[in-house]
Parts: sequence; C-alpha cells; structure tokens
Amino acid sequence: MTAESTPDFPASAALFERARAVSPGGVNSPVRAFRAVGGTPRFMASGTGPYLTDVDGTEYVDLVGSWGPMLLGHAHPEVIDAVQRAAAAGTSFGTPSEPEVLLAEEIVTRTPVDSVRLVSSGTEATMSAIRLARGCTGRDLVMKFAGCYHGHVDSLLVSAGSGVVTFGLPGTPGVPEASTAQTIVVPYNDTAAVEKAFAEYGDQIACVITEAAAGNMGAVPPLPGFNKFLSETCARNGALFISDEVMTGFRVSRSGHWGLDGAAEGWRPDLLTFGKVMGGGFPAAAFGGRDDLMSRLAPEGPVYQAGTLSGNPIATTAGYTTLRLATDAVYEQLDAVAGQVRTLASEALTEAGVPHVAQAAGNLFSIFFVDGTDTVTDFEQAQAQNVKQHKAFFHAMLDAGVYLPPSAFESWFVSAAHDDRAIERIAAALPAAARAAA
Ligand code: PLP
Repeated sequence: MTAESTPDFPASAALFERARAVSPGGVNSPVRAFRAVGGTPRFMASGTGPYLTDVDGTEYVDLVGSWGPMLLGHAHPEVIDAVQRAAAAGTSFGTPSEPEVLLAEEIVTRTPVDSVRLVSSGTEATMSAIRLARGCTGRDLVMKFAGCYHGHVDSLLVSAGSGVVTFGLPGTPGVPEASTAQTIVVPYNDTAAVEKAFAEYGDQIACVITEAAAGNMGAVPPLPGFNKFLSETCARNGALFISDEVMTGFRVSRSGHWGLDGAAEGWRPDLLTFGKVMGGGFPAAAFGGRDDLMSRLAPEGPVYQAGTLSGNPIATTAGYTTLRLATDAVYEQLDAVAGQVRTLASEALTEAGVPHVAQAAGNLFSIFFVDGTDTVTDFEQAQAQNVKQHKAFFHAMLDAGVYLPPSAFESWFVSAAHDDRAIERIAAALPAAARAAA
C-alpha cells in the first residue's frame, strides 16, 4: 500500500472535483484539503457521538472534533433539540436576545473575566482583543510566540524568526509589512527572550498574546510558571497579558487552561479569548477581561468593535446548552479518554520502533514524530518532525476508519462521547498504522 492508497471513496472524489471548480483548493479552510498528507479529503455527510460518516457511507472514529468544538461528540440530542427550538423562533434579530445573556453569564461564571463581548470566530476575538489592548495602553507593539496560532489576523500571521527576538516578516503575501512590523516574535517557553524583548521595547509593548497552552504546533504545554511569568512581566511593564483560550477554553477544564495553572497560582490574564467549544458547533467566540478594560469598548468607550451576527441566537443557544452539559463528570471522562488514546498510540509506536514524543496539555494531546528528545517545548523542536512518518501513520489510520488531523502540527481532540467501542476501534487500528510509519 502507498501512503495515499485508500478504500473506495468515489462520492468524496466526485465532490472534491466539483468543489475545486468553484472554491480555491476545493475547501473553505486550507488544512481540510489534505495538502500535507496527500490524497482526497473525505466529505462528511453526518456525525453522531464519536463518529463521522462520509458521503460514501464509511464511518470513522473522529479524533478531530471539528478542530475542537465537539466536546460532547456530534449531534448531542439535547444540543440539537435546543437548536431546533431556537431556529423555529427566528434565526437572527440584530437586537439583544436572551440566549446571548445566558451564554455570557455562563462564561463569566466559569472564567476569570468580568465581562465578555461575543463575536463569531476566534480570529475576530483575538483581533478585537489586540485592538482593545492597543486602545487601552496607547502603545502599538504586540509580542507573540513562534508556533502559536491566533487565527488569520494580519498582525499575527508572522512566521517564526530564527533569532531570539525578531521583528517578523509577513507569513503570507497580502499582509503588508507595516502590519507585522509592529509584531515581535519570541520562541515559546523562552523567558530570557521575553525579558530581552521587554528590555529593548518595554515601553512600546501594548500586549503579549499567547495560546494558554500551545495546541497549534501540536500540543506543547507552557513550562511550569511560564504563563505566570508572562502575566507578571506584562504587569511590571505596563503591557496587557492576553491569554488565547480559543482552543483550550471550556475544553481542558471547566474554564480552560487557566483552570489548570492561573487559578492555583493566583494570577489572571488581563484579557482572554474564547471560541470553538463555546459555540457548540456554531460560529461563536468571545473576548473578555477586566471591567476597566472592557468598558473601553464601544458603546461604553471609544474602542470600536461590532458584528451583524455577533451573539446570534442559534449559535449562543448551542454554546450555552453545550456548556451547561459540560459538567465536572464530562471533564473527568475527557481526561481519562485522552490519556487512554495517547497511551495506546504511544505504546503501538514504541512496539513498532518508531521514535516519537506523545505529549499532552491537559486533555489536548498529540504525537510528535521526532527523534532524540523526550519532550517538545517550542516550535523549532516541533518542526523537526519526520512528516513522512506522520503521513504514513495518518493514511493507515484513515484506511482503518480513524480520522486524525491531516497535519503533523495539530492536536488530537476527544469527546465525552468516545466510549469503549470507539476506543477499541482506535486500539485495533494502531498496530498496523505504527508499522506503516516505521
Ligand atoms: N486562536 C487559537 C488558539 C486557535 O486555535 C484558533 C483556531 O484554530 C484561532 C484563534 C482562530 O479561530 P477561528 O478559526 O475560529 O477564527
């Protein structure tokens, strides 16, 4: 078998051909196109619990979860019921409505924010949080970490520089250098580099933005005390600390990653961003923080931010219902399943003699196909992966009915619906996939 060989999928192949005729790359978000792994992306027709079914009728155990939102699994009956009732009452009003208040109350109860503004995507959340930080501090520079992704915000699409501190160049054509000239890129988990940048530019830095735990170069947790250090360094220098919990929020604990470090260590970010889980599978995201900062937003204050579909009644109903169902027992289940799947994958790869690091940030986890290290702490190490091994592993799992992220630089997501049957299917697929990667 070649890496790309697959069982029959004529309906996906036909749809992909039609899609390519009318959409760039045949997709509406690049990683869906399977460019990194080759082959034809599967077009999904439905999802139930931990399973996805494609248009050819093949069922997969899903370890992507729509890139994070599907905390309870697909088509949870109570979420579907609430959404159907909300839709029947009208799909968008362009006025305030009760579901957005319920969702905002739930977020404020669970997280260290005093108030939130709802938006429709994680990109909007980080873009708006940065505007607010600049508006509040009167400063322009933004510090971010190499390998952290915060959506396709112009100023944050900066490729990782190789120096300790780099003013980044645009990571994509179309982003003017003027946008990224205000961005400082620093290696993740590198306190000395952060200090050096503050020593040089401290009085110009509006904010530091970090993924609360990096998930977009694979799962790379912050080293113990790193987020606290960022919070304290920002406070000392009059900059704001933005913790991006779009991926981790309401997933790795009731609040997010802050519940795993900040709550115990006694600090809180000035601003936080959320998305994914809080929309229950619909487009909803948020940014929030201290009242004295949030009150600078229009209409209270001068920093403008708005959205036609912000706080949409169906999206907020889906998000609120999902969060209400995400009890402590759900988080215990997620932690247990994530640990089980990670261990099974690591054991299979070890058995097949494939060098790797199986690493977690709470219940986010991923496999790095790297050699000669026990842990991955930054982007440079993550990029040292053997992507050919990932590709072979990915396709063998897909052929065996397990849907993994089609990129070596993504986290795996489990849901509370991943039951014994789903885990047995993953366990059954792993030995051959590990041998394919050897
Ligand atoms: N921030 C983080 C940490 C993310 O993982 C993502 C998306 O993966 C975003 C922001 C952007 O969110 P969206 O894709 O909803 O714009």
